[in-house]
Amino acid sequence: MYKDNLMEKSCNCGGVMTIHMHTLIYSSKIKITHVPVYSCGECGRYEPLPVIKRDLGLLISELGEQPPGRLHLSFADRNEWASVLKDTLAAGTYAGGLPELEELVRKALQGRVDLLLDVYRTAASVSDQKWMEDTEVRLSQLTAHSANSAK
Ligand SMILES: [Zn+2]
Repeated sequence: MYKDNLMEKSCNCGGVMTIHMHTLIYSSKIKITHVPVYSCGECGRYEPLPVIKRDLGLLISELGEQPPGRLHLSFADRNEWASVLKDTLAAGTYAGGLPELEELVRKALQGRVDLLLDVYRTAASVSDQKWMEDTEVRLSQLTAHSANSAK
């Protein structure tokens, strides 16, 4: 499903960017945790993963229109990809380093897709339109990356 290396990419400065969970502070008061980013060990630049950019943009524009009562939210609650990465990172140590993490994340992503497909079938079997749409959105969050790289 994902051809490129997910856990790292090269930076414009020539350094290596590796995956991290980042905490964004929006409007200097709203804290958004669990935002997957690539960050460069050489120059310190960071950027959101392409696969989550659209969702992150949506979240930011929602916050802009309607500041929420609470000041702390987790991006993993809104985005399946961030959720899978968060669970994988929380599951423990990976002695094999990034290559091992890469494999774990790929497996976890595939597992989540399979799970959501099961959920979708269940929703369809009871003709629950809302549930089916919700599940479709979640699936698209996991597959947006391959769609984007096909462009
Ligand atoms: Zn750099």
